[in-house]
Amino acid sequence: MDFTDKTVLVTGSARGIGREIAEAFLGRGANVVICDLNQEAVDATSKELGEKTIGVTANVTKVDDVEALFEAATAKFGRVDVVVNNAGITRDTLMIRMDEKDWDAVLDTNLKGAFLVTKSAARLMMKQKAGRIVNISSVVGLIGNAGQANYSASKAGLIGLTKSAAKELAARGITVNAVAPGYIATDMTKDLPQAAKDYFMNNIPLKREGRPSDVAAAVLFLASDEAAYLTGQVLAVDGGLTM
Ligand code: NAD
Repeated sequence: MDFTDKTVLVTGSARGIGREIAEAFLGRGANVVICDLNQEAVDATSKELGEKTIGVTANVTKVDDVEALFEAATAKFGRVDVVVNNAGITRDTLMIRMDEKDWDAVLDTNLKGAFLVTKSAARLMMKQKAGRIVNISSVVGLIGNAGQANYSASKAGLIGLTKSAAKELAARGITVNAVAPGYIATDMTKDLPQAAKDYFMNNIPLKREGRPSDVAAAVLFLASDEAAYLTGQVLAVDGGLTM
């Protein structure tokens, strides 16, 4: 898989899975646009990753930020070949205790954010007559999870968005796919209750937690020329948890 001279934009890429995805594309020759909420983290990450990256501070829930993000990307690199909708948050609690604001925050970031970014990406990629969009969903969008009604709904919604966008954009040479990670060791999961961690370890056939690099490998494949005949698919990267 070769991404020489391709430009890849990854949302939520100052840390965790997003950063790993950015590094994996850089390792295959791409230019990379780092995008995240905190300017210091964005600047530090883009500096660490080197001269083939630019950092843009943007909140994917804000339409003006998203438009400015694509303007910055095209001003620097001329085009955007791959977009990875990775920015995501959790606000976990049982549904009967869940505040409306916890529902709205998670749906806003995980689903509306992906919609706004996909819309801007589609406009540009339609002109280019080519493009790849990869959405980071979750296995809980497939099977649900107690304590994550908001997050599961957002990630299931992202699968619906993926399939609808895939159907709308296929004739323009753009593919849209999703990756559904299982239990991946990152800052997002480090504070999970021990019982939840035990559940995962007991039920993952491959008997280990996932690594950000496991997710990045699947994203690279779906974004590659080799995956040209794949669209509207959801690839679970979960050690066999949901098979
Ligand atoms: P993380 O919290 O380490 O990183 C998420 C990044 O997204 C952070 O840098 C954060 O600042 C950024 N972000 C949040 N809201 C944003 C916004 N509005 N605009 C721009 N950036 C924003 O999480 P992670 O574990 O690396 O997760 C990355 C993605 O993978 C998320 O979509 C998450 O839902 C998904 N996922 C993670 C796991 C897991 O086990 N870690 C499993 C399934 C899916």
